[in-house]
Amino acid sequence: MTIRSKLPTVGTTIFTVMSRLAAEHGAINLSQGFPNYEVDQRLKDLVNHYVQRGFNQYAPMTGVPELREAIARKKEIVYGASLDPDREITVTNGATEAIYGAIAALIHPGDEVIIFEPAYDSYGPAIRLSGGKVVPFRLLSPDYRIDWAAVRQRVTDRTRMIIINSPHNPTGTTLKSADLEALRTIVAGTDILILSDEVYQHLIFDGERHESILRYPDLYQRAIVTMSFGKTFHATGWRIGYAIAPPVLTEEIRKVHQFNTFSINRPLQHALADYLAEPDHYLQLADFFQRKRDLFAAAMQDTPFEMLHSSGTYFMLARYRDLPALDDQAFARWLTRERGVAVIPMSSFYSDETDEKIIRFCFAKTDDLLLEAANQLKRRS
Ligand code: GLN
Repeated sequence: MTIRSKLPTVGTTIFTVMSRLAAEHGAINLSQGFPNYEVDQRLKDLVNHYVQRGFNQYAPMTGVPELREAIARKKEIVYGASLDPDREITVTNGATEAIYGAIAALIHPGDEVIIFEPAYDSYGPAIRLSGGKVVPFRLLSPDYRIDWAAVRQRVTDRTRMIIINSPHNPTGTTLKSADLEALRTIVAGTDILILSDEVYQHLIFDGERHESILRYPDLYQRAIVTMSFGKTFHATGWRIGYAIAPPVLTEEIRKVHQFNTFSINRPLQHALADYLAEPDHYLQLADFFQRKRDLFAAAMQDTPFEMLHSSGTYFMLARYRDLPALDDQAFARWLTRERGVAVIPMSSFYSDETDEKIIRFCFAKTDDLLLEAANQLKRRS
């Protein structure tokens, strides 16, 4: 039998590969992005409560109304956005399903989709599965800014979507209002859609404001915004995210969602709806992670790594100049085996596997574990 792969060049994602390697070697896992500490007891109690009360059958296809209403209220508080929970919010199996569903629903064969690299690794395969063409733009060194003038030149009649991601995984950079202005001039008068991956919306540091698409009503009219409770409430294993989009786009996304996952874990949705009523649960996240960022960056000063600044997300990049002269994929494996710390090699985020001798650390870990990792990476004479 001959299998014709639809994704012949795709292997297993680097997150799975590195987490597995970390487990094999008993290494501290700073690779795949997930916390090693517990979800708030109150949130766990709420889940238990709803399971015990019998909320165990299918949730409505679009998400339970209480959760969609709570999300709408949250967007009003945080971004001043006025959303219709029935027509603009869809609960999905993590933001990954929201991203995939938006692309599957809206990208046709031959459509071009602009992405910025290094890019999160799910965008490209989702675009290609829909027959779309990935048009990658490299973020500008040294601070990974978008070259909007280059984007403007490359836009054609076939450009159907631009994917932005802020705070940005893996670089930890953030888009500023000037970036959104530049994007506005590019899309004005076109049919280009914007997919805005904002899963790290609350993980933004040094008092900076998150420039959500939801703050820009004219851009929002052509946008799909994807967000995630996994990042916000330290529960990446729950797989609950959501897509926010104007009604005409939401309608299309739901056509895919209903035949992909149909609906999402019900007791968790009810628990999250209650938990969202207390804004402190998400408003204190920035301080929580900023402290971890600073602690980790300080501890890493005694190592041969050159740490790059992180303005958002729970990731931090590092250059490894003085360490073995390996390519970043080999280096990440070497570090896991020989120093007991697993990381993500940055080349996994480039379609041409560019090797910048840079790796990504995840600092969503207990202070003890971060200090232990830094200690294991200390300079050795
Ligand atoms: N978003 C997480 C990261 O960047 C991983 C998600 C996954 O493992 N699929 O590390």
